[in-house]
Amino acid sequence: MTMTQVVNPATEKVEATVELADAAATDAAIDRARRALPGWRAMAPGDRARLLRRFAEAVDADLEHLAQLEVRNAGHTIGNARWEAGNVRDVLHYSAGLPERLLGHQIPVAGGVDITFHEPLGVVGIIVPWNFPMPIAAWGFGPALAAGNTVVLKPAELTPLTAIRLGELALQAGLPEHVFQVIPGKGSVVGARFVTHPAVRKVVFTGSTEVGRGIMAGCADQVKRVTLELGGKSANIIFADSDLAKAAATAPYGVFDNAGQDCCARSRILVQRSVFDKFLELLEPAVQGVRVGDPADEATEMGPLISAAHRERVAGFLEPSTKVAFTGTRIDGPGFWFPPTVVLPSGPQDRILTEEVFGPVVAVLPFDDEADALRIANDSEYGLSGSIWTSDVGRALRVARGVEAGNLSVNSHSSVRYWTPFGGFKQSGLGRELGPDAARAFTETKNVFIATDN
Ligand code: NAD
Repeated sequence: MTMTQVVNPATEKVEATVELADAAATDAAIDRARRALPGWRAMAPGDRARLLRRFAEAVDADLEHLAQLEVRNAGHTIGNARWEAGNVRDVLHYSAGLPERLLGHQIPVAGGVDITFHEPLGVVGIIVPWNFPMPIAAWGFGPALAAGNTVVLKPAELTPLTAIRLGELALQAGLPEHVFQVIPGKGSVVGARFVTHPAVRKVVFTGSTEVGRGIMAGCADQVKRVTLELGGKSANIIFADSDLAKAAATAPYGVFDNAGQDCCARSRILVQRSVFDKFLELLEPAVQGVRVGDPADEATEMGPLISAAHRERVAGFLEPSTKVAFTGTRIDGPGFWFPPTVVLPSGPQDRILTEEVFGPVVAVLPFDDEADALRIANDSEYGLSGSIWTSDVGRALRVARGVEAGNLSVNSHSSVRYWTPFGGFKQSGLGRELGPDAARAFTETKNVFIATDN
């Protein structure tokens, strides 16, 4: 039996010891999920909905406990962690509205009736990263369960605690056994088995683009369905006609939230040349104002990075030649701390502009006009999110339509609402989660023709 220690990233103390599943245990769980399928898919839609609503209520009743667990396991600020647990509750409530609304079509045909059904896929395998352990899990399991699938879920090695708790809450809420199973383990063991096991009919993977490519290639063997939510290098585009003070005051939160460990982080700030210097002047106090510290403190806005190894990786982006404009609060002592850091890139090929840092490091660079802004914003293999700051509505829409990314916000930095679709263009992913079509991604459309002629 392999065990792993779960470490608090703000203190470096061991919080818990968790057993990791091996391939045989994974196969056994997948087999249980397969056997639980007929009962779950045959359940009346209203009954499945009611159980999901009860699951949502169980999460709500446990919200503070879940949030505190995430503070200790992932170093998330308590404010963020409460939002994340609340997001799981809301995704479940939203999903509870889906079973009775999985509507098909009745399509006009000669000599009979033609109708479509949205059939569940079977067992769905969900692979979750460490940066948002709770919401990313729920975006998969809520709609997958609503559509009549059973779910096996693998949390990230570093952050299994809230997922394990969600598995317990599902049972407490009355979900039948083995309909939703959480299997802590290694990606190369448990995650890889989701890809190769024929009973798993779809893999939902959120994580790095590199691992995502391998998952997609592996799924090709069985033409297995796949949703991929991968990396990002999103642009925050600031035009001279915007409310510059507001753009500067909010820019740090668009990239440093969750210590920059956010696939939607606006890690490239593009500023129109005529206001470039003025923007940097306004940005400096905003960055220095970000409250970095103990994530359990209600006032804290940014906590530590997830691990020592990750901090090393982030630090590796700052080479001796890197031009650092300024930094925010630096914390010493135990914990995997890294200060908010603003960098002026050396040129378009600077790694800071082309690679995902996944830490609190942002690059600021100038552009000339709208066309130039779009050219720079789209000069990336990624395309997940982005922001546009301007007071010209026409420009806001032109640029929003022109940026090759799945989630744009104008004069704000919002990316995720459980009732709007979320996902990436280009190498940021494949497919969409959340929104009105969330459950459809976990179904096959079946067409049935019934002859009415004698
Ligand atoms: P990662 O790719 O290293 O790991 C993600 C998950 O995949 C983990 O559970 C891991 O155990 C598992 N895994 C690793 N190797 C595997 C394999 N060979 N087969 C099956 N599973 C395997 O990513 P990470 O470091 O945990 O997360 C950070 C990355 O996730 C960043 O690139 C970030 O942008 C991305 N991300 C994307 C979104 C999005 O919605 N687009 C959201 C959050 C994070």
